[in-house]
Amino acid sequence: MDVLIVEDDDAMAGALTAAVESAGLHSQRLARGADALLSHRNFQVILLDLGLPDMDGLEVLRKLRQVTDVPILILTARDDERSVVLGLRSGADDYLVKPVKLVELLARIEAVTRRAGRAGGVPQEDTIVLDDLAIDLNRRTASRAGLPLPLTATEFDLLALLARHAGSVVTREQILDALWGDAFLASSRSLDVHLTGLRAKLQKPGFIINVRGVGYRVEAAGA
Ligand code: CA
Repeated sequence: MDVLIVEDDDAMAGALTAAVESAGLHSQRLARGADALLSHRNFQVILLDLGLPDMDGLEVLRKLRQVTDVPILILTARDDERSVVLGLRSGADDYLVKPVKLVELLARIEAVTRRAGRAGGVPQEDTIVLDDLAIDLNRRTASRAGLPLPLTATEFDLLALLARHAGSVVTREQILDALWGDAFLASSRSLDVHLTGLRAKLQKPGFIINVRGVGYRVEAAGA
């Protein structure tokens, strides 16, 4: 697997490169956002610093998302809550806070690439219909009353998971485990942001219900 590291800080880039290669993965480091936009095709996962010298990292992320579904992990400074939220809403799969821990980095890379691989794998069912929502599991698209919903990859996975279990509770642990591969390493904060984004796009109050202290349940007539 080839990992693209987009990071302008030499020391940070060196540490990330060493970490990635210690796991037997290949990596290439670029320091500029514009270069990342030109070379993203050769990689299976992208680590993207948000503070780049030539472009805003969020802008790089948005442009990448217009042309590729490759898993993208954003790298942020501690306390930069706003960037994390904007990044996840702009289509990042997950985020890592600097300084990045080796174990966490490798676990996140594995989780997002496994998820991406599964998405392109053998389809199970075709379409789930709940009320006016149609969720096409093969094409990974969702529509409401015939109008396509502009969901990010993670928002789609979250909706599909809840919809498959419509009428029953899905615990936070189950969601973290299904979407990020490991409930303990996954970030609870990511889930909150993706859930908020999904609800905003669905515009269906009362559809995804919080089951206090347990998880979430989708309520629909078709369930
Ligand atoms: Ca930077």
